[in-house]
Amino acid sequence: MIGLALLVIALIAGIGIYNNARKKNNGYILSAGARKILTENVLFYRNLDDAGKLSFETRIQQFLQQVRITGIGVQVEELDRLLVASGAIIPIFYFPEWRYNNISEVLLYKDTFNDTWQVEGGDRNILGMVGDGALHRQMILSQPSLRSSFSNPEDGHNTAIHEFVHLLDKADGATDGVPEYLLARPYVLPWIKQIHETIREMKMGKDSDINFYGATNDAEFFAVISEYFFERPDKLKAHHPELYAMLEKIFHPIK
Ligand SMILES: [Zn+2]
Repeated sequence: MIGLALLVIALIAGIGIYNNARKKNNGYILSAGARKILTENVLFYRNLDDAGKLSFETRIQQFLQQVRITGIGVQVEELDRLLVASGAIIPIFYFPEWRYNNISEVLLYKDTFNDTWQVEGGDRNILGMVGDGALHRQMILSQPSLRSSFSNPEDGHNTAIHEFVHLLDKADGATDGVPEYLLARPYVLPWIKQIHETIREMKMGKDSDINFYGATNDAEFFAVISEYFFERPDKLKAHHPELYAMLEKIFHPIK
């Protein structure tokens, strides 16, 4: 009797696991035109060699099999799906095993929004955010901001990369500017010290080429400086060699 009960429990658990696995893969397959869209719109992809491009495509497909892209008052095009996925994959491209386990859906809004997610009226300056509470496992991005992030690949701003860096930061349980899964332990304290020194310099009014929003707190600093790192690595290396070296350790440790 106990054996039968255990068998039933095992079967129920098995079905649960099967359903979860099925839910995780929505069957998304890269479209025939995906390679062309990526080549025309994603500089990071364009700069990869053939093997790198193939790997990028595979990971984009895997990401979109796990994460739904939903338009709120906007039509979601294949371009949008590929740009969101690119923003997700670029920061973790050199971590082939990395999977985002803390997101299920990205909502695309037609415009900037405010902190109650309204897209009408004044006081709307948010381009993207990682959800919390009711929006747990969701991210919101402004569709125009997503598109302009990639059509201006060297202006130092990329909303999608910014938000996915927040998710990487959040993956260890604390959105605190320290991505503990990516940064080797001995570098954690030096990294925090660098963040605080740079924020202090920014707040002292020293003319900075870093987006001042980064001085808000450690987490925003990490997201903002990561945008800079992926869009203008040459400039960051010239102006802030120590920050650059640390970001290399975080995002490209095998180099
Ligand atoms: Zn942010």
